[in-house]
Amino acid sequence: PIPPQTTGKVTPTMEQWFSLKNQEPDALLFFRMGDFYELFFGDAHAAALALDITLTHRGTHDEEPIPMCGVPVGTAQIYLSRLIRRGFRVAVAEQTEIPRKGQKGPLRREIVRVITPGTLTEDELLEAGRANTLLAIVAPDKRRRDRLGAAWIDISTGTLELLRLGTDTLAELLARLAPSEILSDPALIPAEHAGIITPSTARPSRDAAERTVTGAYQVAQMDALGDFNDEQIIACAVLLDYVRRSQAGKLPRLTPPVDHGLDSIMGLDPATRSSLDILQSRDGGSKHTLFSSVNQTATAAGTRLLAHWLGTPSTDLALITGRQEGWSWLHQHPQPTATLRDILKQAPDSARALGRISSGRPLPRDLAAIRDTLRAANQITETLGTLVKTDMPERIRYIGANLYGRADALLERLEAALNTELPVKIEDGGVIAPGFDAELDRQRDLRDNSRRLIAQLQVRLAEDYEISNLRIRHHNQLGYVIEVPTAAGRKLRQHEGLSLRQGTANLARFSNEELTSLNQAILEASEKADQLERHLFADLAKHCLNTPALDDIGLALAELDALISCARIMDRGTWCRPTMTDGQEFTLHACRHPVVEAALHEQAAHDTAFIANDCALPPEKHAILLTGPNMAGKSTFLRQNALAAILAQAGLPVPAKAATIGIVDRLFSRVGAADDLARGRSTFMVEMTETAAILNQAGPRSLVVVDEIGRGTSTLDGLSIAWATLEALHSQLRCRTIFATHFHELGALLETLPRLAACTMAVKEWKGHVIFQHEVRPGLAQKSWGLHVAKLAGIPASVLQRARILLTRLENERGRDSQPASLPLFEQAGVASSCPSDDLPCPAPSDCPSPDTVEALNMLHTELDKLDPDSLSPREAHAALYRLKSVI
Ligand code: ADP
Repeated sequence: PIPPQTTGKVTPTMEQWFSLKNQEPDALLFFRMGDFYELFFGDAHAAALALDITLTHRGTHDEEPIPMCGVPVGTAQIYLSRLIRRGFRVAVAEQTEIPRKGQKGPLRREIVRVITPGTLTEDELLEAGRANTLLAIVAPDKRRRDRLGAAWIDISTGTLELLRLGTDTLAELLARLAPSEILSDPALIPAEHAGIITPSTARPSRDAAERTVTGAYQVAQMDALGDFNDEQIIACAVLLDYVRRSQAGKLPRLTPPVDHGLDSIMGLDPATRSSLDILQSRDGGSKHTLFSSVNQTATAAGTRLLAHWLGTPSTDLALITGRQEGWSWLHQHPQPTATLRDILKQAPDSARALGRISSGRPLPRDLAAIRDTLRAANQITETLGTLVKTDMPERIRYIGANLYGRADALLERLEAALNTELPVKIEDGGVIAPGFDAELDRQRDLRDNSRRLIAQLQVRLAEDYEISNLRIRHHNQLGYVIEVPTAAGRKLRQHEGLSLRQGTANLARFSNEELTSLNQAILEASEKADQLERHLFADLAKHCLNTPALDDIGLALAELDALISCARIMDRGTWCRPTMTDGQEFTLHACRHPVVEAALHEQAAHDTAFIANDCALPPEKHAILLTGPNMAGKSTFLRQNALAAILAQAGLPVPAKAATIGIVDRLFSRVGAADDLARGRSTFMVEMTETAAILNQAGPRSLVVVDEIGRGTSTLDGLSIAWATLEALHSQLRCRTIFATHFHELGALLETLPRLAACTMAVKEWKGHVIFQHEVRPGLAQKSWGLHVAKLAGIPASVLQRARILLTRLENERGRDSQPASLPLFEQAGVASSCPSDDLPCPAPSDCPSPDTVEALNMLHTELDKLDPDSLSPREAHAALYRLKSVI
């Protein structure tokens, strides 16, 4: 909280602090004082703690010392990035006035920027290969809180998209975009995103919103931007207002808003995304993800685009085949492709450079980035131009056309203007090359000539006064002065024409008329040169912003990079171009899980190769019942099929020998433990909610891969739920389904469900050991291997022994009484209650042991029950062992 500002006792500087802090009460105020950003009061406490820096005090407020801490301006970026990562907002107040001689009172300060996770533009604070998304969610109509508008932007590149959606698809959008910051009424947003919400209840009218949007894009009518509905425009206005505020009233460069239609995107709900580790793995890292296994891009923009493709697999056949044709062609033309990639490596991140230029904080290297990008673009068209065009696919032609000479005027200008060696900041001077501007050259000559004259003057004076160590040096406050040791200084004092400027213990500093006028000339010329240089630099920046072709060029380079990345994956020789159709087939020949395969490859010492598996879900057998023990590779098989669908529809190659995939409209994957304890729901409740989502949303074009539905409850409850779910998927929703289960009883459904096939993971037993072959074969698992796996995991032999006995007994009992129990939670979770479940064949135990074995085990059990190991003497124990052995 901001401390109350008491009147009277506040210094003018602190008064300024209070007024700025009041403008941005929710942000930490970085208050510029000389070479430091200082923080006061509560801000100081919070920052000192978060940054582990010393908390001190400065002056008093209400007779209490004012807490203060500070960070040096030079290294402020490091501290900023730490604070932003921890969820703070930071308002930067700069001194916006140059101190004048004898000035009284504090310098003017203004907030020049509010930095939040979603409004970063600095390279140092951004991840190069990842979009940084700021998302606004608005419910414009108070009475219809389920109708939402979404607008999102990556400020670092200026891309902006709009969408109207319902509350039911919000979670999916949030999972897809993975925003850094959400601007919204917190009540609208699921609790798990609370940490990144910036509360905003703004809900402008359609008219007001239109004015904001048309103003930002400087168009007269909303129509000029496209056809958008109320929700989209209102969300867009809320977003733009916030962005403008964060950039101190100035909007960055924006690309025209894009309508983010959901129609042509494969539906992936949050549970599916998190079970598949597409862009991020479940532990939050980016290693061992689908993306890391296919990313071969050479540029940051290409990386972002490829991630976007994978994050939004398409359902648009033309778009998918367009990409495929592009990379197939590149794959077939390895020579030019290698050259193209080498050129791309030289192309810097022009989208982010443009973002910084438009934010008004361009660095010299940002202009160089534009120049180098344009050079690369031209080299790429030259390379493409040498090739025969007849077989060139449309995407490659399109890329070539977008790159060709679109901004040559700008390129020429930048090439002529920029020096070969560039300083970090424009203030350091030397950005503009000699020969670009005659007046700049003249002022620089004047400055440099005067410097030469000063050098000559030094030689002359040293001779005249016979002081060999006389020097003319530049001094910060005094300008150029004649400097001599104190003893020589005493001699010089007598000379007319020399005036003493300063004496220290060791030195005396003088000036004379000639030096003063040279000094003046240098000062004037430098100042003029600096001014001119800044002006020319700003002018170049403006030219960049006024060259719309730069956007197209940036996108075309990114697309080429992403396509070349795909071609490189094809070069591995083990990936294929899938045949995509409008039908409902799903056939993968010798398919692999790219991430598990790569992981096995990394641990090559174990010499375990990945076993490829086929998967066929033709319309006449569109559901597979998959059985097999734990650790046999069920999850891997389920996931690899889901991943193949994602890769194929992102337009990428697939890790298989061959593949034919009918477009999947929604993909549901429920594989691996679904724990949501943080949200206070039991594992079973989560599982049922997710199952409900599938049953309510899947359709004939969907692909469903599920593992162990019904594991989180009693066996009979679970079995019944799994049974009914599989029936619904097969008979009502008719979606392509792979259903992995532990309930061997479900095998009975093979008789009643005509389009259900059975597959099992091959397992071999060898001398009491179990060997997983990771191979998918037709048929049902012959037996459960739970106890074998338990043994592998190191469960003590005594417990295993006991478990074996119990298992037999339980299986016996279940054979006698196998009615499913009631299913209260099932309905509570919203699973469609229309699934037929009354007139079914009942689940029956699959493999009962023979009566003889049961008899022996029961005797064994009785014997064991009689024993009390603690009271046995070694001799008695020995005898007991013999008795037990005789039973077997
Ligand atoms: P399940 O789901 O049946 O418990 P997983 O799919 O988790 O089994 O697989 C267990 C382990 O077996 C994996 O971590 C992987 O190392 C290995 N594995 C799975 N599938 C294959 C395969 N097709 N080829 C080689 N190893 C595999």
